[in-house]
Amino acid sequence: MPAASKTPGEWIDGFLFVGNHLALEFLNTRPILAEGPKELLPDVDALIRWLVASGMLTTQNGHALAKKWKSSPEAVACLRELLKFRERFRAVVIRQEAGFPVSGVFIAELNSLLKEHPSSVVLQRKGKRLDLEAAFDPEKPNDVWAPIAIAVAELLSDVSPGRLRKCEACIVHFLDTSKKGSRRWCSMNICGNKIKVAAYQQRQRTARNKAR
Ligand SMILES: [Zn+2]
Repeated sequence: MPAASKTPGEWIDGFLFVGNHLALEFLNTRPILAEGPKELLPDVDALIRWLVASGMLTTQNGHALAKKWKSSPEAVACLRELLKFRERFRAVVIRQEAGFPVSGVFIAELNSLLKEHPSSVVLQRKGKRLDLEAAFDPEKPNDVWAPIAIAVAELLSDVSPGRLRKCEACIVHFLDTSKKGSRRWCSMNICGNKIKVAAYQQRQRTARNKAR
């Protein structure tokens, strides 16, 4: 399965895609913007739009689901649980970035999610290649767990924790796929420039102080 469903496009339909991995894109649905922390999945409609933006659902299927799940208490409850899980997953990623292993409690939770919501895969032609992709055709809200659980499991098993990183200037996490492993911020547009300007100003201040 691909590490991310799309090449990083930064913002797609109001959602951030700079994580290089679906599990991290899910984590980054609560970024800190200039105006403070922002929940990008405040309601079921937003969750469906995120599934479309991340390439898991077609726009057409997204519209159909939005209609079907509009006033579904099951969908609201599912979103609430997904967001709680997202924050537990955040704690795991932060611990991994600090060099600590994944807790047994989280592994057990993830294993029961994987068992409860198995994923199916489908072979698809991509130009000359064949790609193994997650087959995602949700009917009930809880079906959304399958791609999230498998993405998180993949991240924790396939990715070297040394390549997991938090942006130096905000709470966005990403998988560093750069050759040198030297990526420092979520995106040049969002935080890279901010850091460069701050570093420039610091150099100027130091130079002025030295000149005195
Ligand atoms: Zn950032």
